[in-house]
Amino acid sequence: MPPSDDITEDETGFFLYDLDSLKQHLSLLMQQDVIKLWFAVKANPLSRVIQTLGQQGFNFDVASQGELSQVLAQDIAADRILNTGPAKSKSQMKGFLRQGVRTFVVESLNQLQWLNQAANELSCRPQVLLRVQLQWQEGEKNPLGGNEVTAFGLSCDEWQTIKVADFSALNINGLHIFQWGNMLSNARMFELWSQMVTPLLTLAENLGMNLEVLDLGGGLGVDYLQTEQGLSWPTIINDLAIIKARAGVSELWLELGRYAVAEMGYYVTSVVDRKQNFQQQQLVLAGGINHLLRPAITEQPFPVAMLRESTATPCYFDLHGPLCTSLDKLGTLALADDVGVGDQLVFGLSGAYGFTESMPFFLCHQVAAEYVLQQGKIEQVRAVAPASWYLR
Ligand SMILES: *Cc1c(COP(=O)(O)O)cnc(C)c1O
Repeated sequence: MPPSDDITEDETGFFLYDLDSLKQHLSLLMQQDVIKLWFAVKANPLSRVIQTLGQQGFNFDVASQGELSQVLAQDIAADRILNTGPAKSKSQMKGFLRQGVRTFVVESLNQLQWLNQAANELSCRPQVLLRVQLQWQEGEKNPLGGNEVTAFGLSCDEWQTIKVADFSALNINGLHIFQWGNMLSNARMFELWSQMVTPLLTLAENLGMNLEVLDLGGGLGVDYLQTEQGLSWPTIINDLAIIKARAGVSELWLELGRYAVAEMGYYVTSVVDRKQNFQQQQLVLAGGINHLLRPAITEQPFPVAMLRESTATPCYFDLHGPLCTSLDKLGTLALADDVGVGDQLVFGLSGAYGFTESMPFFLCHQVAAEYVLQQGKIEQVRAVAPASWYLR
């Protein structure tokens, strides 16, 4: 953790990203020739994070013009970028084509028509993966744990209404499927991937499509709940080599979010108050879901530790943030019993779905600062900002 003289005194909360350990982690992930790796930019779009991923050979999955601009601004070539997302209008896709993007995950029949028109108008021929959403019949062994219909992609029945030959401006040579989250078991992940193969191959055949690329999205988990479970990367690579052979594809893609960047990030804030309330031990923190929303929407806390060392017995505390809503809670977590006002708390696994997933504007607190640790040196990338920065 940063020596405190590197950190501005008046900050209510800040993120620190350890780019040295990120670089090591990414280089391990890249030491294989089974899968092509993309980074799901929504997990952490900070410039320095994107640069580190780019230098290690990752490609980039963007879902908005803002993400695209941010990746291009880091000198990443447009041919290393793909565009996913259910809300792609014709003008958005045409704009992406103009900016050099040539790989698209298409999620609706309209998107397919519009992209074909836009490619014709611009005389280019982008590569297209169709995003598939699968369901299992009630009573069948359901690998997805629920059959909620989402806006991501289309069912096989809908896709089967098209013929790829009708879209001459598009090279439709891949399928994309991703409808699971934070998987922590290799066996379960493999079972899930395995069950996708047959329906996807059947679909490709019905569409008259030459299936060259299979994109299995993200969803590789990190151990938020500190259960000591976790995925083995060598096992993932072995399993995916099997999936790749069964699917008969020449390229297998993954778009990693949290598995790439969660571990390198820390969020630090301090204790403003401590009290006992009914049966609960409560800590009220300077920063909460205004900086770190994810626990409130997933009921998965980020793991916490006190910065100061203590030999006091751990006990459970409710960790509340500064917002005047009961939603603002970062979890019920164990900390040394002597934790008190002024102590700094460090939340781990905060490199993904932290700063940009949160709700910084509510109640006009400070926007969190962001620091990076690179080559052993701490640098501030974003200074803390008061609410006057955005209030009008
Ligand atoms: C969010 C997202 C990912 C990354 O998800 P993780 O669970 O963080 O790995 C990958 N692909 C797509 C299309 C996504 O929307």
